[in-house]
Amino acid sequence: MVYLLPSMDHPLFIGAEIFRHSSYGRWHPLRVPRVSTVMDLSRALGWLPSAQFITAPRAKPKALEVWHTPEYLAALQRVEATQLATDTDTARHDIGSVTNPVYPEIYRRPATAAGGSLLAGELLREGGVIYNPPGGTHHGMPDRANGFCYLNDPVLAMLSLRRNGVRRIAYVDIDAHHCDGVAVGFHGDPECLMISVHEERLWPRTGPLEDDAGGSAINMPVPRGLNDSEMAFIRDALIVPRVTAFRPDAIVLLCGADGVEEDPLAHLSLSNNAHWAVLEALMALAPRLLVLGGGGYNPWSVGRLWTGVWATLNGHEIPERLPPAAEAVLRGLRFEGNRRGKNPPVHWFTTLRDAPRGGPVRDIIKDRVQVLLARPPG
Ligand SMILES: [Zn+2]
Repeated sequence: MVYLLPSMDHPLFIGAEIFRHSSYGRWHPLRVPRVSTVMDLSRALGWLPSAQFITAPRAKPKALEVWHTPEYLAALQRVEATQLATDTDTARHDIGSVTNPVYPEIYRRPATAAGGSLLAGELLREGGVIYNPPGGTHHGMPDRANGFCYLNDPVLAMLSLRRNGVRRIAYVDIDAHHCDGVAVGFHGDPECLMISVHEERLWPRTGPLEDDAGGSAINMPVPRGLNDSEMAFIRDALIVPRVTAFRPDAIVLLCGADGVEEDPLAHLSLSNNAHWAVLEALMALAPRLLVLGGGGYNPWSVGRLWTGVWATLNGHEIPERLPPAAEAVLRGLRFEGNRRGKNPPVHWFTTLRDAPRGGPVRDIIKDRVQVLLARPPG
């Protein structure tokens, strides 16, 4: 396949139709569509010409063995074929648990997200910007599924960048959950800087302030109710200076959408402006940028936030009121089994941009940033 190479003025979007039809099952948080909403909204807004779109290739098992074990990859493929997890699959690989259920596309779907991330690493060899919203499965472990993640595409993307000559990688993760899988993958790597901002005491409960992953990580746990002003403080005082000082050849941003107020799994109070502002601040800091999705379990919040990410990468003006075709995409969404789906506020249909949710910057945030800044840069 020949692709138009990405550049700063020509970002590429990686997507696939498998994310529209696959679901983790009726009761799972990942029953809701996410990536397809971003594709549909972006197209309805005229923001996704075919010259900027790449269909994610499904990764071959061999390509995944750079980080995952052959036994685990074989188990995923067998379970997809039989739709049955054995006791060993569950005990060793956590396949078939409540969190990581057996579903029809249990291998193909994660392998497509991973295929996109592996390809992104190749296409970014000379520089540019790529958005792979199916990616962001930051909990996946080498030999087991973890936290809805069967594979770990951020790790695979970073290994792909390395194979393509990119050395210094800054990984910034603003998902509400700590990136435990990525932290395992790059523990102690002197040419990797991982910065994670995540809700304290939330599953997986890893990534405390004092954990520096062998000198490679800055972990910033935040209390419930984190507001836009607090995220702006963390961005300007911690994230931007540390990434700048690191002089990365590439930045990977995991832009999980579960930190917004309306998310059903986390307890932070951000508006989507906070995520877009972090992205904007990072855009000029390296010659290569890969933006991944991640968590986000309210179908309206995640679709609106991630479409705004694509607008930000392209410099598109976000309209105050969406045109009818885009509004129709949002009105077509359902959120079965959640009270937030009963009577959605009208701005979830008519806008991308939330009202800002600023507030006081609490002392605990300032104190923790000071602790992290007192550490010598890695
Ligand atoms: Zn998350």
